[in-house]
Amino acid sequence: MKPLQDLVRSCIWNLTPYSCARDEFKGRVASVFLDANENPYNNPFNRYPDPLQEELKSKLATVKGVAASRIFLGNGSDEAIDLVYRIFCEPRTDNVVAIAPTYGMYAVCADINDVEYRAVPLHEDFTLDADALLAAVDDHTKVIWLCSPNNPSGNALDRKGIERILNEFQGIVVVDEAYSDFSDAAPFRLDLDRFPNLIVLNTFSKLWASAAIRLGMAFASEEILALFNKVKYPYNVNQLTQQQALRVLDDIPHIQQWRRTLLNERAHLLPAVAELPVCRAVYPTDANFFLARMTDASAIYHYLVDRGIIVRNRSRVQLCQNCLRITIGTPQENNALLGALRQYRPTPAPSL
Ligand SMILES: *Cc1c(COP(=O)(O)O)cnc(C)c1O
Repeated sequence: MKPLQDLVRSCIWNLTPYSCARDEFKGRVASVFLDANENPYNNPFNRYPDPLQEELKSKLATVKGVAASRIFLGNGSDEAIDLVYRIFCEPRTDNVVAIAPTYGMYAVCADINDVEYRAVPLHEDFTLDADALLAAVDDHTKVIWLCSPNNPSGNALDRKGIERILNEFQGIVVVDEAYSDFSDAAPFRLDLDRFPNLIVLNTFSKLWASAAIRLGMAFASEEILALFNKVKYPYNVNQLTQQQALRVLDDIPHIQQWRRTLLNERAHLLPAVAELPVCRAVYPTDANFFLARMTDASAIYHYLVDRGIIVRNRSRVQLCQNCLRITIGTPQENNALLGALRQYRPTPAPSL
């Protein structure tokens, strides 16, 4: 890895961050707070929340096996994705390299930040092409984006290939593990000591069933974490979100139960869809969704919409012609999907 200073935009490296009112007395006991221009009434919502979410991070540290000092929390993973650009990528100068197809936000945030985005196709079977990714790198490449298990293909990427990229690329490698809870692959967040250039993303939105509270995690070295903390909005995770997240973490057995149920449903739904006449192939998945190649994805998509069943039409995405991305739902929802697909009849071509 290059020295961190060579990877970070100079305006960020030299930034004097905003100092919160409460940073200044930190560590002392106090009961009268006349420092932040808050209204003294309407407790507890009158007070600014903890800008560094320390209680939440200390619980997460135990659950995730990552030191609290290496955890960043943001307004969804999307905040962490945007911060990576703002910290490392000089607009109109630097570029990033990413697998394709993958999660759309990496490219959207590149466009918003005016940073060149180099999409490098996976192999036809959605496996990682480490050679092609490394070949796309030049002196201005600051970040490589990987997603494992990958969205929309569902498969976990080959660990050896990811490690090779981490070792050979001199910049930052982001591994988005939003779906790692559904995979048997060992998560990369436990390898921060081995890879100083690694940033791992996790989220409360998938297995943890809390997409509405908007809470995402990034795991990285203390040096990279310090940059995230410098650039983020001071109170980026609101009090209600912090409280609800603490409640979620108090019921880990419930989360494990959901995991078992969803994996069990996945094991039943995949082969059932694969054997339908309308399905050409189902791709192996390590996530709570799967990609299915259909005879006519767009027609089937609209047919399902008419029956109130919404899946994701990925037909226009690179390597995903005629593919639907289907999330694993409750047993009832999955049965509704299967029942509808079994009744599907293609509209005959108009006779001449
Ligand atoms: C769903 C998803 C996320 C979650 O984003 P949040 O902003 O945390 O809701 C992140 N990465 C990938 C690849 C996803 O599919």
